[in-house]
Amino acid sequence: SPPGDPDPEQPSKKRHAGDVGVVVDHYNTRPEVGVAQRETSPIIGLKSFNNWVKSVLISRFAHPALASSKVVGRGSRAGRGKVLDMGCGKGGDLIKWANARVAEYFGVDIAAVSIDQARSRWQQRRNHSFDATFASLDCYTEPLTKAFIPAKLATPFDVVSMQFCMHYAFESIQKARCMLENVSRWLRPGGTFIGTIPNAEQLIQNLENLPPDAPDLKFGNSVYSIRFEDRVHKPLFGHKYWFYLQDAVENVPEYIVKWDNFVQMAAEYGLHPVYKEEFHHIFSEHRDHAEFGPLMVHMKVVDANGESAMDEDQWEAANIYFAFAFEKR
Ligand code: SAM
Repeated sequence: SPPGDPDPEQPSKKRHAGDVGVVVDHYNTRPEVGVAQRETSPIIGLKSFNNWVKSVLISRFAHPALASSKVVGRGSRAGRGKVLDMGCGKGGDLIKWANARVAEYFGVDIAAVSIDQARSRWQQRRNHSFDATFASLDCYTEPLTKAFIPAKLATPFDVVSMQFCMHYAFESIQKARCMLENVSRWLRPGGTFIGTIPNAEQLIQNLENLPPDAPDLKFGNSVYSIRFEDRVHKPLFGHKYWFYLQDAVENVPEYIVKWDNFVQMAAEYGLHPVYKEEFHHIFSEHRDHAEFGPLMVHMKVVDANGESAMDEDQWEAANIYFAFAFEKR
C-alpha cells in the first residue's frame, strides 16, 4: 500500500526489541491532548519556549531554503519548497511549517500510533495551505528508499528537520550513519538540515560534578532528571542515560551526542554546520528582535510585561538543549 496508509505489515509496526522498543512504546502510548488541555500542563511555559525556539530556527534557517526552492509548489505558492520532518511525532510542528509557507511536508516517525494521530489531526484541519503526508519508519535502521517515499515527493527536499529526536540514533555508529545517510540522501545541495539535541558537554559536566559516593548517577530538579548508566565515558556512541521530563518524557533511554564527532561524521555526508546555539542564548539573542520578540508574547513564553511563563526549574531544564543548522554542499 502507498506510504501514508496505515499498514500493519510495515516493518515499523512490528514490535521493537531493546531500548528502541522502550522509546517507541513511550511515544506511542502518550495521550494526544488538545490545545485546551495542553494549556494546563505544569510545564506549559517550557513547552511554549521549546516551540518558540523551533519557530525561530525554522524562520531563520529553513525558510530561506524553502523560499529559494526550485520545486514548484501548489498554486500561488509556486517556488515554496519541501520539508522532510524526521521524528515528527504527533505533528506538533505543522503550524510552524504552514507559517514558513512550505508547499509539501513529509512527516516520518518510528511511532506508528503517533503517525496515525498526526495524520488524522491533519485531516481534521480545514484550509490546508500545503500537502502533508505521513509514514512510519525506523529512520535509524531502515534506509529511506525511493520505494518508501510517495512518487509525488520523491525528489530532493529543501529542508530536513529533526526536532528533539536525533540523539536516539547515537546508540550505535550504525544507527547514526543510517540516520545521516537518510538525511543527506534526500536533501538537495544548498538545502538545510536543522535540529535540536541535548547538550552533551553540559550533561557530562553534571555527571562529573556528582560526588564519588553518590548513590546513583542522577541529577536534575523538580522538572527534569537525568540518570546515567555509567560514569565511564563510552568512546563515541552508546553512552546511555535515562531522561525524565515532567508531563512529557518518562525515563526514556537516550544517548550522548558528541558534537565534534557528529560534525566530523556529518561532513562525510556533505553536511556542514552553520549554526549551533544553546536555548538560553537563543532567548537572549532574539528577545528584542522585531519579529521573534512579539512572537514570544504571542506564543505565551512571556506575558505582555515580559514576565516569563517558566519558573526557575523550567528555565534550567530549557538549557539542556541546543539548536543547530547544517548546509548540504
Ligand atoms: N519532533 C517532534 C517534536 O518536536 O514535537 C517529536 C519529538 S519526540 C521528543 C521524539 C520523537 O522521536 C518521537 O516521536 C519518537 O518516536 C521519534 N523517534 C525515536 N527514534 C526514532 C527512529 N529510530 N526513527 C524515527 N523516529 C524516531
